[in-house]
Amino acid sequence: MMEGCCIEPQWPADELLMKYQYISDFFIALAYFSIPLELIYFVKKSAVFPYKWVLVQFGAFIVLCGATHLINLWTFSVHSRTVAIVMATAKVFTAAVSCATALMLVHIIPDLLSVKTRELFLKNKAAELDREMGLIRTQEETGRHVRMLTHEIRSTLDRHTILKTTLVELGRILTLEECALWMPTRTGLELQLSYTLHQQNPVGYTVPIHLPVINQVFNNNGTVKISPNSPVARLRPIAGKHIPGEVVAVRVPLLHLSNFQINDWPELSTKRYALMVLMLPSDSARQWHVHELELVEVVADQVAVALSHAAILEESRKARDLLMEQNIALDLARRDAEIAICARNDFLAVMNHEMRTPMHAIIALSSLLQETELTPEQRLMVETILKSSNLLATLINDVLDLSRLEDGSLQLDIATFNLHSLFREVHSLVKPVASVKKLSVTLNLAADLPVYVVGDEKRLMQTILNVVGNAVKFTKEGTISIAVFVAKSESLRDFWAPDFFPVQSDNHFYLRVQVKDSGSGINPQDIPKLFTKFAQSQSLATRNSGGSGLGLAICKRFVNLMEGHIWIESDGLGKGCTATVIVKLGYSEQSNESKLPFAPKTQANHVHSDFPGLKVLVMDDNGVSRSATEGLLVHLGCDVTSVSSSEEFLRVISQEHKVVFMDVCMPSIDGFELTVQIHEKFIKRHERPVLVALTGNMDRMTKESCMRVGMDGVILKPISLDKMRSVLSELLEHRVLFEST
Ligand code: ADP
Repeated sequence: MMEGCCIEPQWPADELLMKYQYISDFFIALAYFSIPLELIYFVKKSAVFPYKWVLVQFGAFIVLCGATHLINLWTFSVHSRTVAIVMATAKVFTAAVSCATALMLVHIIPDLLSVKTRELFLKNKAAELDREMGLIRTQEETGRHVRMLTHEIRSTLDRHTILKTTLVELGRILTLEECALWMPTRTGLELQLSYTLHQQNPVGYTVPIHLPVINQVFNNNGTVKISPNSPVARLRPIAGKHIPGEVVAVRVPLLHLSNFQINDWPELSTKRYALMVLMLPSDSARQWHVHELELVEVVADQVAVALSHAAILEESRKARDLLMEQNIALDLARRDAEIAICARNDFLAVMNHEMRTPMHAIIALSSLLQETELTPEQRLMVETILKSSNLLATLINDVLDLSRLEDGSLQLDIATFNLHSLFREVHSLVKPVASVKKLSVTLNLAADLPVYVVGDEKRLMQTILNVVGNAVKFTKEGTISIAVFVAKSESLRDFWAPDFFPVQSDNHFYLRVQVKDSGSGINPQDIPKLFTKFAQSQSLATRNSGGSGLGLAICKRFVNLMEGHIWIESDGLGKGCTATVIVKLGYSEQSNESKLPFAPKTQANHVHSDFPGLKVLVMDDNGVSRSATEGLLVHLGCDVTSVSSSEEFLRVISQEHKVVFMDVCMPSIDGFELTVQIHEKFIKRHERPVLVALTGNMDRMTKESCMRVGMDGVILKPISLDKMRSVLSELLEHRVLFEST
């Protein structure tokens, strides 16, 4: 900047130079005035500019300079030419620089202003970020504390440890003066101080549950600020003039196992809570922060969950202990039951044997008596004795079968047999009784019924005989029809019962036997009971029948073993009934009768009437039983030798003896050992007598032992004259006879 006033020797004014100076001064002044205006604008716009007064000062300085230049316009004096030139040049430059500066400022100020605005914006943003960071940090802190606490709480499933840990950890994290837990008492009418931070055993304090402050906390699912003077917060006597710290309380739901059971929803309405009270240190200005309260709420929920887990564990432990106790008791009961079953089976086996021996004598001797000259009255008596004894023998069989069926020890005796013969035998057995009652019994065997099949012949026979026998027994007049055919797979579907699942295969078929009678019929509601033990329909006819009510119960079990089904249908009393038996049998590859182990026993014409001179040796330690067997054989013309000890037996036995009957259930003699000795003595097969075991106990083991030691036959006591006759003829023809019950 140049001042235009210089005292120089006067020079005639050069018009042009003057003009330049005038114009320059004008522009300089203009620039000087505009720059402060621009600065004022800038200062006004930028609210954050720190040194506003400096700018004002600077502005004033320029305005004043500008004013001086303006005044120059009027105080112009003539200078020397050199001075005039220098001045004009200086002024022109000054004017150019000033105007350029003013114009530049017009451009720069908005930029500066926007920079300032951005700076301000950034500052605000930074402050905001700081706040957010602070929040995140507190949240993180809360989260960390919650995690820590949760870990501590969950690391145990013991209720007391959970609660104690919660208080200790909360007290530590939130720097509390006191933290306490009030638990509801058993009656649910009071809260009891159960855990505190500082007192080891805070027992004794109780407060009524219906206090307004407790209700207020219980009805709120968050934390509630409560008065430090409320009964639940007054945990310790306040000493001196301390100002108590702020206190909050929160409810802790006591979820119980029963809460998880849908049936117990009403329980939820009477939900029980514990109360947690937290106190800030006294004499401090500290207040509860929002994030601290959030932490307390989260912890209360976590404690509730941990407590429920602990409760579940406690209950499951109790249930496990109870179960273990029950298991021990059950085990004991099972062992007792097994001992009882063994004892019963032993008893039955002994009784069976013991009863059969006298039965054998009665039946054998009375069948012998029957063959002698008797008066009609005596004959009637003997026949009655025989009939009753046979009935008793059947009953013994039934009871034994039933007990074996019940303990599962009865197994089927599977072999190939002639199915047609079986039904013909049944037919011929019931025919005499039916003809006395003037009943017609028809047997209809389907054309496609296989002759040889695989199954348990005796059990099937027993079942069919029982069903047909019942039909004969409960029918006074009319007809009985027995229809036997192969059940078609479609028809089987109609008879599905809960315990019957027919499975078709190439090797098996289902045999269907239908026995229809025109007899007394059964009340439909009695039908399901008939298959239970000792069941009898209420009709008079059946009550007078003299049966035991065991037959159908046994049949049902036999049929089940044969994977079949049995049922009875009746239209009611007096309308007859139809019994149907379905059993699974195997197809036999055997079609030649000669290949059978022994021929069916129905060929009555093959049975010899007697056996004159047949040398037979009988060994039995029981005198009565021995003489009964001897009597039967003597009656059949045999030459009998009987012995009662093994020494005598070994001394007497010779090649001449064709048949040996040996009791195998002797206490003092081992019949099996004797058999082995006989085999050793008579090495050649044709020299050895036919060895037949007499037994009162036809279980699988006895039978298998007999077969193993080389017996040729096993016969169950008691034996009637007819039975002895057919046994002997069969043995002599085939040399093998294994009878089964
Ligand atoms: P039991 O004939 O020895 O009494 P069952 O078990 O064979 O025993 O039969 C049980 C009961 O079923 C019989 O007492 C009888 O009431 C009834 N019942 C069985 N079959 C017939 C039938 N064909 N007609 C009428 N009632 C029958």
